[in-house]
Amino acid sequence: MALLEIRNLSVSYGPVEAVRSIDMDVHEGCITAIIGSNGAGKTTIINAISGVVRKSGSITFSGEDLPSRSNRIVRKGIIQVPEGRKIFAGLSVEDNLRLGAYIRKDSELQELLEQQYALFPILGERRRQDAGTLSGGEQQMLAISRGLMGRPRLLMLDEPSLGLAPIIVATVFETIERIKEEGTSILLVEQNAKQSLSISDHAYVLENGKIIKEGRGRDLLADEEIIKAYLGERR
Ligand code: ATP
Repeated sequence: MALLEIRNLSVSYGPVEAVRSIDMDVHEGCITAIIGSNGAGKTTIINAISGVVRKSGSITFSGEDLPSRSNRIVRKGIIQVPEGRKIFAGLSVEDNLRLGAYIRKDSELQELLEQQYALFPILGERRRQDAGTLSGGEQQMLAISRGLMGRPRLLMLDEPSLGLAPIIVATVFETIERIKEEGTSILLVEQNAKQSLSISDHAYVLENGKIIKEGRGRDLLADEEIIKAYLGERR
């Protein structure tokens, strides 16, 4: 049984069918990626899992139907790191992290903060600074770290590499691998096909709301069609 099982999922915005009858499995302890270009429907899938858009079809988590309300879904252990980071610029780094722990007990807070500062030493050094003073890459780390403060079983990352310099992008992907190694399952949504396929155990390729291909990340990296459409002629 997969940790998350999506069957026949469709989502429409009025007349726009953004996601069309997709099936998808996310396995425990793995990085699963959804790649696809701008507007393919990637964010919509994540939003359907989080319960923030109306959907048809079924989604089970650990064998149980997902609750319909998004706050209950978070408490089940599914946490989304939104596209564009959405950190609170005028709050300190530490206060941003505390907000991520709103579903945890107060007694867990210190340990959770220490775990985050061990994973992201730069956030520890800057804990008292306003989050808005961090660089783009540091803000992305903060957004991911804030997600981890809720102790997710499944962390969903929406375009974590967006708008970052290549060297910083590499660090973000290394961090995602470390988070997996520490035991959190990951669903990664990305336009950066090359980097996400190279770290993912399994990946789905989404075009116009439909899955057109799936396979092991490394197999898709070598797939001629994927190379042409997503990776450029030269790798
Ligand atoms: P991006 O990388 O730009 O976020 P995406 O693959 O995540 O792209 P979605 O944001 O899921 O794609 O959008 C899928 C389709 O649904 C697009 O055609 C988009 O224009 C449309 N769409 C998304 N949100 C809405 C909305 N709230 N109302 C109407 N149409 C929407």
